[in-house]
Amino acid sequence: MTILDGKKVSALVSKRVAQRVKVLQERGISPALAVILVGDDSASQVYVRNKILACKAAGLRSEQVILSANSTQDEVLAVIDNLAARQDIHGILCQLPLPRRINEEAILNAIPPEKDADCFHPVNVGRMSLGTARVLPCTPAGIITLLKEEGVEIAGKNCAVIGRSNIVGKPMAMLLLQENATVTICHSRTRDLPAVTRQADILVSAVGIAKFVTVDMVKDGAVVVDVGMNRDENGKLCGDVVFNAVAPKCSRITPVPGGVGPMTIATLMENTLALAEKRLNI
Ligand code: NAP
Repeated sequence: MTILDGKKVSALVSKRVAQRVKVLQERGISPALAVILVGDDSASQVYVRNKILACKAAGLRSEQVILSANSTQDEVLAVIDNLAARQDIHGILCQLPLPRRINEEAILNAIPPEKDADCFHPVNVGRMSLGTARVLPCTPAGIITLLKEEGVEIAGKNCAVIGRSNIVGKPMAMLLLQENATVTICHSRTRDLPAVTRQADILVSAVGIAKFVTVDMVKDGAVVVDVGMNRDENGKLCGDVVFNAVAPKCSRITPVPGGVGPMTIATLMENTLALAEKRLNI
């Protein structure tokens, strides 16, 4: 069994981004990401801090806009309008979840597709489905990069994705399909889930329940990608997969932490750069 090392591969991606950033800087462009954080959710604060640090490591400029939990939807929209109009900002993201009062869809739709660093705008989701997107959703695209960089062949493989959310499950299935895999999407209404997942050469779990993927659900020699970010009974970060039991049965497996998480952030850096390059028609 080999660990799919998201930390190592994300550092490689970040290095490549930094090299391309230099090319833009020589042309007078300094690619920049704006991150909007509404409220004081501690997990979101950590995610935003990590994104800002990753920008620094990749040579990207970043800007944080922190709004109070009492902010209105119009106030958030006004911030987005302002960032959308600025020439010196190339990517915008609004950290989710938003306070319940604010309509998430309205906020995501307000970020112009050409500055949509997360690839959540419907136009970009459509382009992704057509295979013509400039940027791809960070978590699934980061997983594809990790698999490719680690030499995992995807074409022709049976893949199962557990989860069908708009940000992970559905786009993950779409990107695997574009890599010529045969893909099954599983969800809470799937009948006999273990029977389905046991057919998978590549199993991606994006459920959000600790200890959800047990050893009986995994095919011998499978590649297992654990997207889950959960807390165990001791409050420690863990994935969906019972790692110690499942790992010996796999050919490759992502750890949590150190697997999908760093790849998600590295892809955000790639996306910001790609949006800046697109503006210059590079
Ligand atoms: P989500 O929107 O809650 O979706 C969870 C999915 O799991 C749903 O499609 C749900 O099915 C399915 N599910 C729930 N119970 C199930 C069951 N018993 N059997 C089969 N399927 C079941 O979550 P998400 O936003 O996709 O995120 C999933 C996990 O990934 C979370 O832990 C999240 O924190 C993590 N995450 C990690 C990263 C990263 O960078 N590492 C990025 C994003 C998310 P239904 O649709 O039928 O309800």
